Amino acid sequence: MLNASTDSSLTVWAWTAPLILLTVMVSAGAFRAMHTFVLHHASHGDFGRHSPLIGVLAGAIGMTQSYDDYRRDHLVHHSALTSRLDPDQAALAALGLRPGLPRCAYPRLLCRTLLAPACVLRTVSGRVGINVSLRRQPLRTTAFLVAQFGPVAAMCWWYGTEYWKPLVAWSVAWLLPLTLGWHVSMVLYALGLHSWFRDSSRSGWEGFAEKTGARFFADPCPARSLRGPRALRAWCFWWFRLLFWHLLVARVLVVGFTDNGCHDAHHADPKGRTFNWCDAAYARSEMMANSPRAQENFWHTWSLSEAITRNFDQLADLPRATGT
Ligand SMILES: [Zn+2]
Ligand SMILES: [Zn+2]
Repeated sequence: MLNASTDSSLTVWAWTAPLILLTVMVSAGAFRAMHTFVLHHASHGDFGRHSPLIGVLAGAIGMTQSYDDYRRDHLVHHSALTSRLDPDQAALAALGLRPGLPRCAYPRLLCRTLLAPACVLRTVSGRVGINVSLRRQPLRTTAFLVAQFGPVAAMCWWYGTEYWKPLVAWSVAWLLPLTLGWHVSMVLYALGLHSWFRDSSRSGWEGFAEKTGARFFADPCPARSLRGPRALRAWCFWWFRLLFWHLLVARVLVVGFTDNGCHDAHHADPKGRTFNWCDAAYARSEMMANSPRAQENFWHTWSLSEAITRNFDQLADLPRATGT
């Protein structure tokens, strides 16, 4: 009897553990998208007159900056990209990711930054501090607490003595992705986004392109010259990596829904005069087809790991920074 019940609970865990992991990853990607996609585009006014309201809601749900603070910081990110003034770069430096270290130090540093409780707590406490202060910002604090805890409080009340059930579900599907998942996603996302700490003497598109490439979450297609079993094997491997690495890990967990495939075009044309962000997946290739400037300057990396590896190589080549 005991064995039968142990077997059945093992079977349940074997089915549910991957689903729980998937839930955490998808939710973490969604929370990050509140920051990297919704709040970002709201700060550029891309939702028209609704931009401030959408930005405020996205900031509260994603437990990130307020619309006004993000907008202020993001304007600096655009105008002073990868300089000492860039707030995004300063956030990475605060986590210990600085230029001029030995190349072999970066992977170790990355592991520590991703998983060390002190690093995770630093990110989480910073985000809580931004959102919760009844004295400084009572309205925002109330809205934040209602958005974060309202639904689970209502469910606990509804379940009565079995209040622990919605509490456990909320912890896995909301709290874990919002804290640890958000932190992991933020670090991996930011590391490959720009060529951090890099100076450029050039201005305009050329200067931006030196510091920003597109990140494609896929591998180049297998060679057309392959035939028979070799072609079949290459395509199976390509699809396997696309679904279980690029889509699941890189796209869902690390980035969520964002503009990584065209971040270079966004920096070259942040106001969207010629670059249509709503159609971003096609707009960049149109730009490449029609603009000699884009053809000359734009570059890209395939896969999340290639973007991060490239950045580590460049960081190790830079002189050690003082006071960043
Ligand atoms: Zn950027
Ligand atoms: Zn922007």
